[in-house]
Amino acid sequence: MSMNTQGRPTGTGTTGFAAAGSSLLPSEPLLFEIGDTEHSGVDLPDVEIGGDYLAGCERQSPIDLAGLTEPEALRHYVRLSRLNYSIDSGMYPLGSCTMKHNPRLNEKTARLPGFADIHPLAPVSTVQGALALMDELAHWLMTLTNTAAVALTPKAGAHGEMCGMMAIRAAQDAAGEGHRKVVLVPESAHGTNPATAAALGYAVRSIPARDDGTVDVEAVKAALGPDVAAIMLTNPNTCGLFEPEVIEIAAAVHAAGAFFYCDGANFNAIMGVVRPGDLGIDAMHINLHKTFSTPHGGGGPGAGPVVLSAALAPFAPVPFVRKGELVEHAEGTHLGRITAFHGQMGMYVRALTYMMSHGGDGLAQAAKDAVLNANYVRARLGQVFSVPFPGQPVMHEALFDDSFLAGTGVSTLDFAKAMIDEGFHPMTMYFPLVVHGAMLIEPTESESKQTLDTFCDTMLGLAHDAKAGNAARFTAAPTRAPRRRLDETRAARSPVLKWERPAELPQAAE
Ligand SMILES: *Cc1c(COP(=O)(O)O)cnc(C)c1O
Repeated sequence: MSMNTQGRPTGTGTTGFAAAGSSLLPSEPLLFEIGDTEHSGVDLPDVEIGGDYLAGCERQSPIDLAGLTEPEALRHYVRLSRLNYSIDSGMYPLGSCTMKHNPRLNEKTARLPGFADIHPLAPVSTVQGALALMDELAHWLMTLTNTAAVALTPKAGAHGEMCGMMAIRAAQDAAGEGHRKVVLVPESAHGTNPATAAALGYAVRSIPARDDGTVDVEAVKAALGPDVAAIMLTNPNTCGLFEPEVIEIAAAVHAAGAFFYCDGANFNAIMGVVRPGDLGIDAMHINLHKTFSTPHGGGGPGAGPVVLSAALAPFAPVPFVRKGELVEHAEGTHLGRITAFHGQMGMYVRALTYMMSHGGDGLAQAAKDAVLNANYVRARLGQVFSVPFPGQPVMHEALFDDSFLAGTGVSTLDFAKAMIDEGFHPMTMYFPLVVHGAMLIEPTESESKQTLDTFCDTMLGLAHDAKAGNAARFTAAPTRAPRRRLDETRAARSPVLKWERPAELPQAAE
């Protein structure tokens, strides 16, 4: 056993727990701090390579990898995983993110060798099963949305937005309408919407939200003009509300010669109940990783297929699947390729498994249960928490603002940190921006009433504690997490991204 620079014991005997401050908090050194570079976990014979196989590019200095044994490496990662909160360890009420249970069946099918072990450059004749699966998934995405085409390749919701807006631009360029340089974005849109429009060079024209949190069709009409390329509307919107005037908005947008991009990341609220094509949308991404489950977060993996109306279908990116055939090069005005190869195969398998195991009625039931759960949470918490838009029922998520905390000295951030001490992942905070100190909670359909009640009891208990003047509990939180409060500004401004060998640690054997 050796000691690392912090004086922690390292090596096989590491427990993963070290004293930090007054409490015993789990901690885990880096691989480099556990192993030393002089020893290796495996005995390999010395390599004698004659000749200049590497054309003079041989490594000149030691590679400096920690030489761990297999159990040492395994335990390191298992210990790290135990510091994480996950959907498999508890409820994850992050609004807009749809952290629902990931059925193990999906994982099983995604690991079938015919899907998991194929190579994107394999001859098409050898991957017909995978292509058939993509074809079937595409079919159901178009059926659920009543649209004419789908581009499967976008690798996330934001990527899907980019793809859909590029199809709109390609269509307008082809029609001699390339002068349309403005995109309308309601205040209640997801932040990726204005970011996508701006990234593509469009000017963003903001549409204010009404007092009830929805988009005003009159405000949209007033903002429309010959310079407008499209509206990007999130529906259900980020206040969790279904836009009641969406059909009128679509009609007004089309009458002005513009396209209707719908952010359908949260399709999970309406799948099997409403077909967006019937509402007049021209393009919409569906986050497979939210709506049809799959583990996600922390940067991936995701998949954000875009369904397209008949008007936009000719401008879909390649490749696409057409009756068992992979179309890599299409004639015409399509926008080309937006990703290498064919997208996230593992996500396709999981999403289709989710669809087929639920069936059409099951998908509709899942959406209705998600809506019921969100309204249950809103009704229970709404007894104490402030509900900014009490009018219509919510869809898949419930929005609160921080006015119920006025005068308590507790902020939304403090409240979220106290939730960690109670064993819950925090909700989405300070988003959407249309309300002050937002708390956005999405329970999803996969939580039982018992779990929802435990969650609501905990939240109400915290709220009562805040109102009773116990601010210190909140401002000190979290005290039971692996890490206390982080200096987030410093972490963002000067992140430490690379391990540097402390001078006193031994160098690898030359
Ligand atoms: C999650 C989400 C996005 C972005 O999806 P990513 O896969 O994270 O890029 C866009 N819009 C809405 C409404 C979302 O909820």
